[in-house]
Amino acid sequence: MTKNIVIAGAGPTGLWLAAELRLAGAEVTVLEQRTERDPHSKALTIHPRTIEVLASRGVEQPLLAEGIPIPQGHFAVLDDRLDFALLDTDFPITLALLQARTEELLEDHARDRGADIRRGHRVTGLTEHPGEVRVTVDGPDGGYTIAAAYVVGCDGTRSTVRAAAGIDFPGTSASVYGWLGDVVLTDPPSAGSYSRATADGLLLAVPLPGGLHRLVGHSPDDIRADRPGELTLDELRAKVTAIAGRDFGMHSPAWLSRFSNASRQATRYRRGRVLLAGDAAHMHMPAGGVGLNVGLQDAMNLGWKLGAVVRGEAPDDLLDTYHDERHPVGAELLEHTQAQTALMTAFSPDGRRLRSLLSTLIAEQPAFAKTLAERLSGLSVRYAGAHPLTGTRAPNLKFGDTTLFRLLHAGRPVLLDFRDEPGPAAPGAIVHHGRPLDDRPDWAALDTALIRPDGHVAEVTPSGEPDQHR
Ligand SMILES: Cc1cc2nc3c(=O)[nH]c(=O)nc-3n(C[C@H](O)[C@H](O)[C@H](O)COP(=O)(O)OP(=O)(O)OC[C@H]3O[C@@H](n4cnc5c(N)ncnc54)[C@H](O)[C@@H]3O)c2cc1C
Repeated sequence: MTKNIVIAGAGPTGLWLAAELRLAGAEVTVLEQRTERDPHSKALTIHPRTIEVLASRGVEQPLLAEGIPIPQGHFAVLDDRLDFALLDTDFPITLALLQARTEELLEDHARDRGADIRRGHRVTGLTEHPGEVRVTVDGPDGGYTIAAAYVVGCDGTRSTVRAAAGIDFPGTSASVYGWLGDVVLTDPPSAGSYSRATADGLLLAVPLPGGLHRLVGHSPDDIRADRPGELTLDELRAKVTAIAGRDFGMHSPAWLSRFSNASRQATRYRRGRVLLAGDAAHMHMPAGGVGLNVGLQDAMNLGWKLGAVVRGEAPDDLLDTYHDERHPVGAELLEHTQAQTALMTAFSPDGRRLRSLLSTLIAEQPAFAKTLAERLSGLSVRYAGAHPLTGTRAPNLKFGDTTLFRLLHAGRPVLLDFRDEPGPAAPGAIVHHGRPLDDRPDWAALDTALIRPDGHVAEVTPSGEPDQHR
């Protein structure tokens, strides 16, 4: 039986999954229909939990070196921003980096780890057989079939894998279209990013590398079920001028596009030997800039599990926990992007009052602002568990000689043994003895904590309770 894993799609999700699977010792083939990477970048933002994920494998530095750190996020482009200094993380920033560059760095990382990435190879279908799944591919030299132990559809919102596996993708169709222009501005807004919400629409302007600005927004006439025609520079100019009172001297568009609030989620993230991750599993309005982030975090959850199963070290039903853990995260993603869409299109006087009220709450109620920031940043994701720490993502605990994230670089479970007299080693885990230097009462009350390869807490032994690892 083959132990190869086939990934359809070399977007951010597929590339990170490929690297994770290689780290777990699996053979990986990534099939990507495009011969060249898309030069247009949908995503610009990388959030704190994603930077933590990268740091847990020691590959965050190239992105941190190139990205522009922004110490805040936003909810529905409300005037008062979410202060990321409130977050308990080593990376309290939104990192602005073009998706094309993020993908390039992720692809380098996956290739360095030995992933076989084939461009110009389009997945056309699949059939399941005892012990394997056969994937049909349209490649540069014609059609072929490749056998795999498992196939992961990371092939975006129109996923061929999802359709071939017969997994439903219910949700709501588009009722709002946003517009986007990457343009040169001869008279740009004075400092950093700019936003404005009026009865004529909502506009966000963000500087991009290479002298461009991204202008993105919605106007009242974009609330419609039918897709408008191609966006032109003249239309963009008219919409921006209606909202901002000027066009910022826009010219030379590098990309003009539209996007919608169609929101859908796969009913199952797993069917037999087929799994889904990233946009193939969930689609939504790009509000708050989170889709790429959630895709990478899907891949982080799935990678070590799939690796353990193909190595024969875990039963196949471990893969069911991928659906159980990540489907609720996808559902929450749809919920908060839909809520933001309602606010971003609240053009009426009453709607603008609602925006103003919520913005004031963000400014004046730190606990409210922190809750929103934790959701946006990905730090609040918690999987099931009895103890308050179980299922949470462990922060980067500091020890004298190392940190938790450094201990996670190998992609193996980490047993933190805080006792003065350490217990025996746990099979398969990296064991670290010693108390963290951090002043954290919840962690100080533990004897041991077992951390999963994806950085979430698997189990803990409170001080004085019988050791689960003996
Ligand atoms: C306007 C806009 C702005 C956004 N801004 C942000 C942001 O700031 N931050 C953020 O986190 N997210 C943002 N997003 C969302 C983000 O771009 C996506 O969530 C992200 O690209 C999903 O990655 P993915 O790898 O799952 O899917 P994709 O990026 O869609 O990649 C799928 C890949 O699969 C390939 N493929 C498709 N079908 C096949 C096939 N049959 N065979 C082989 N290959 C196939 C495609 O060519 C593609 O390369 C934005 C989206 C939009 C539209």
